[in-house]
Amino acid sequence: MAHDPNCVFCKIVAGSIPSKKVYEDEQVLAFHDIHPWAPVHVLVIPKEHVASLADVDDGHAPVLGRMLALAPKLMRDLGVKNGFRTVVNTGPDGGQEVYHLHMHVYGGPRPWAKG
Ligand code: 5GP
Ligand code: ZN
Repeated sequence: MAHDPNCVFCKIVAGSIPSKKVYEDEQVLAFHDIHPWAPVHVLVIPKEHVASLADVDDGHAPVLGRMLALAPKLMRDLGVKNGFRTVVNTGPDGGQEVYHLHMHVYGGPRPWAKG
């Protein structure tokens, strides 16, 4: 599985940077965003280093499907009952800041800081 030693999310996968994990399996990790935009804000990432959604190909479809399918379960587990938002920022014009593919999932009572 590809890892980038300089990547902050690879360090979270490896455990060398701490995170508040909410879900983990062999392919996927989910943890609370350090600067939440909403009462509940988690990031869902592939454990493999993939820089962005612009870098995926058909081979990534299973892990991408797993990430998306995980969102409703995570929100249920975290007590979000009134809907949630999923966002994947991609590349400079997409506002991506961390170049390890991640899906934001956020919810909870409004107002939210973004969106
Ligand atoms: P982007 O703008 O790339 O879509 O979002 C990156 C997100 O990663 C931001 O919401 C930011 O708060 C979060 N983030 C950056 N560094 C860390 C970290 O070390 N730990 C956690 N939990 N979140 C981080
Ligand atoms: Zn990485």
